[in-house]
Amino acid sequence: MSDVIGVGPDGDYCLIGGRCTHCSRAVFPLREMCVHCLSPDSEPIPLCRDGAVYSYTVIHQAAPGFSVPYVLASVDLAAGVRLIGQVADPPGEVAIGTAVELKVEPTGEDSAGRRVIGFRFHVSKEGHI
Ligand SMILES: [Zn+2]
Repeated sequence: MSDVIGVGPDGDYCLIGGRCTHCSRAVFPLREMCVHCLSPDSEPIPLCRDGAVYSYTVIHQAAPGFSVPYVLASVDLAAGVRLIGQVADPPGEVAIGTAVELKVEPTGEDSAGRRVIGFRFHVSKEGHI
């Protein structure tokens, strides 16, 4: 399996998905075969920045290391991929259609005190896309 975190065109860390060179649909993570048309020809693409909340829920009970409440959202990225992830902003800031940005960043620490890197969504300061 290839790396799921890379560097996007703006120099920021991003997730690495794939775009099928046959049917042009995007997936995450990059796979050896397109899940839509079964073509073996996909190329890596950066999944960064703009998306919109498709749906969301507010989590009130969570595993150790997560502060509650927080928003867990299903987000449609501009690249054509829908991802589920935590939103860094408080629940009152998120609604269906809210513009968000995907950011790869430290999300906490493991039991040994090492930083854990993951992705979260942040409400866009530029309004809806
Ligand atoms: Zn395809």
